Amino acid sequence: MKKANLPKYEDPDDTLNGPRYQTGKLCIERCGRPAGTAWSPYWCWRCNADRIGRISRSLNELALDAAREKA
Ligand SMILES: [Zn+2]
Repeated sequence: MKKANLPKYEDPDDTLNGPRYQTGKLCIERCGRPAGTAWSPYWCWRCNADRIGRISRSLNELALDAAREKA
């Protein structure tokens, strides 16, 4: 199944979330999943995706605030 619309960090089957990046340790969120993705060695793919999702939303909000200030 192709998941073209999914960002890479949201796709557990993407090579960037693959075993190559796993550290052999567990996720620091203590979710029980193995830690390590191309983005960070500390989080599992799921917690990493949540984390990046939160960061992107914050950045979008900052960008919107900046745009409003200029208007
Ligand atoms: Zn996790």
